[in-house]
Amino acid sequence: MSEYPNEELHTHLPVRAGATVDIGEMSGIEADVVRGILRAEPVGRLATPPGPATDSATGPVLGIAANQAANPTAAPETPADRPAVRTTSASPPPADSATAAGSIATSSIAANSIAANSIATSSIAANSIDATALASGPAGTGPLALLLATVLDGLDRGRADWLGPLPPGGPHAVREAVAASGFGILPDKGEDPFETLAALGRLVAWGAADPAHPHCAAHLHCPPLATSVAAETAVAALNQSLDSWDQSPAAGEIEERIVRTLTRAVGYPDSSAGVLTSGGTESNLMGLLLARDDILRRRFDTDPDLDGVPPFAAGRMRILASDQAHFSVARNAAVLGLGERSVIPVASDPEGRMRADALGEALGAVVDRDEIALAVVGTAGTTDLGAIDPLGAIARLAARHGAWFHVDAAYGGGLLLGTEADDRLRDLHTADSVTLDLHKLGWQPVPAGCFLVKHAASLRSLEKRVSYLNSVDDEQAGYPSLLGRSLRTTRRADAVKLAAAFRALGREGFQQLTDRCRALARYAAAAVQAHPDLELTAEPHLTTVLFRYLPPDPHDADRVNGALRRHLLEAGRAVLGRTELARERPGTPPGRVRLKLTLLNPHTTEPQIDALLAAVRTAGGAASASAASVRGPS
Ligand SMILES: *Cc1c(COP(=O)(O)O)cnc(C)c1O
Repeated sequence: MSEYPNEELHTHLPVRAGATVDIGEMSGIEADVVRGILRAEPVGRLATPPGPATDSATGPVLGIAANQAANPTAAPETPADRPAVRTTSASPPPADSATAAGSIATSSIAANSIAANSIATSSIAANSIDATALASGPAGTGPLALLLATVLDGLDRGRADWLGPLPPGGPHAVREAVAASGFGILPDKGEDPFETLAALGRLVAWGAADPAHPHCAAHLHCPPLATSVAAETAVAALNQSLDSWDQSPAAGEIEERIVRTLTRAVGYPDSSAGVLTSGGTESNLMGLLLARDDILRRRFDTDPDLDGVPPFAAGRMRILASDQAHFSVARNAAVLGLGERSVIPVASDPEGRMRADALGEALGAVVDRDEIALAVVGTAGTTDLGAIDPLGAIARLAARHGAWFHVDAAYGGGLLLGTEADDRLRDLHTADSVTLDLHKLGWQPVPAGCFLVKHAASLRSLEKRVSYLNSVDDEQAGYPSLLGRSLRTTRRADAVKLAAAFRALGREGFQQLTDRCRALARYAAAAVQAHPDLELTAEPHLTTVLFRYLPPDPHDADRVNGALRRHLLEAGRAVLGRTELARERPGTPPGRVRLKLTLLNPHTTEPQIDALLAAVRTAGGAASASAASVRGPS
């Protein structure tokens, strides 16, 4: 494969058009990285992380925790510690302030894992790496490998610039820093891609809300697995698109197999089907679209594809979902021409689960009003409380009323990947369609949504025949097409990263990751209960913990909790979620605002949770004092 002996590359590294750079002229770190890639050697100096290797009561997860020692995002040394702060500057320091962290990324790569790059690199023409270089092709991935090393090095530098979970200084400081960087404009004359990527990597790492930081715990925003991100790079390099076989032959087959794995995990029959999506919002839209069209075809004998929603049905179609259902259900109802008011909220119990008796009553009322129960949407893992609706009872009621049963398992569906069946998902297979989102409890880079249907035939609404994408003669000749599964045309090959994660982790790996995050949630809930100035809202169902800080004057609760969260954001110290309960809880101080921890980082440790709660209490104390001073002495 190699046209040139590696020796030549040691002295003449192709860097950019017209220039041949001698490694000897490079800074130590750059040369280390480049040499490592070319010679397939581990490179660089391992920077000492800010603290000891993470450990936890349950020990390392999959042995990955040990690697955290080489990761500067590994947080604080001691329970009392907050995310370390190396600089208090609100803007990223100039690119020339070199840090030892620069070469961390490559330093932990095993030698044989980059051997392939050295082969690819060796076939690049000496002057080929300029901004027009392509990511792949007959010449190999050499330019990409060098550029990747540069951008990853930039990430580690940016991380070393600021070790908090998000940049300090709030929106104003971030806006100024991004403007000062100059990124975002289109200059007349292009600039060097290496310098561009070094600066960009550094800026985005500094300015990121980093989900891998133990104190970044607001949303269903998981830290992605390195394996999946590496696979994602392969997909990006090849830019496969799943709308036709001739744009993604193997990736299409991989998607089919991933979907089959997921339909089996749900317990669906072989007649089921599915497709990967951009996320829960799109999957829920597809579920409601199929529900709408199914009922129009069955009950009204119309063809919604051609005729849309007939006037006699338009104002009467109803969707029933719990008052905890994701907001995309209502938005999608609007998109589908049904209107947000077509969604009837069904009461949930104090744990956040849909009440089957309330659903029964609501369905009865729909019939009494001569309306049409189009769909019942159950949620397996509500966004705030992580509650899982009683799926079996809901399925029976939906079936009795001839309504489509869609389950939004965007969050809780991740439980299906493990070795242990979760009883709460036992009846998931009774759903007509299911939403899964593996960029939540699945540790995938966004997007990794999935939409599954029990019967492939119900995907009919999405079928399209487009002469230049899926001609009949091509299909008859055995060339398959996934165009008719999706609302999209050009579609990323997200299945490839899932394939990597599935094989590398196995069911046991997913089970360990899930178990660890759930254990952290239980730990956090107990730690909240141990502090008299913190109040736990409910025991965790999955990996979220709802709670609040109780200020000395209970009437300040909402204001103080809102303010303390912004204070932590502004300081770049912690990213907590904020939400509001549908109603005040009887027997607790007034207010509906709650803070939320969404724990999706299996490498977070118990002392780091303690440190996070300590930061909340400190910020809460300060916010209470300023609330009191605004009010003045009473
Ligand atoms: C996150 C979430 C969604 C939306 O998914 P996206 O991937 O953000 O589009 C829908 N439903 C539930 C329950 C969710 O938690």
